[in-house]
Amino acid sequence: MDQDNVESPQRLPDASISLLLQVDLRYNVTVCTECCTGVAFDWIQSHLKSHHGIRKELDAVMEYLNIDASTLSSSEIKAWISEV
Ligand SMILES: [Zn+2]
Repeated sequence: MDQDNVESPQRLPDASISLLLQVDLRYNVTVCTECCTGVAFDWIQSHLKSHHGIRKELDAVMEYLNIDASTLSSSEIKAWISEV
């Protein structure tokens, strides 16, 4: 009655990022839920690659996040932080 071999042979194509990225709609900032940190829009690809070994086109990321416009970029975030 062992059911240890129930591992699914197929990986969902976007399962990897679906666990990782969210958009905080209040601030329009992309958030990596794995690292619990905000990720500037222009850093998304390098963050996914260097921290999680995931290669993703920005188009695919935007499609997954269901956003039409980019979230805050690093320069916008810097400006925003320095205002606080
Ligand atoms: Zn991360």
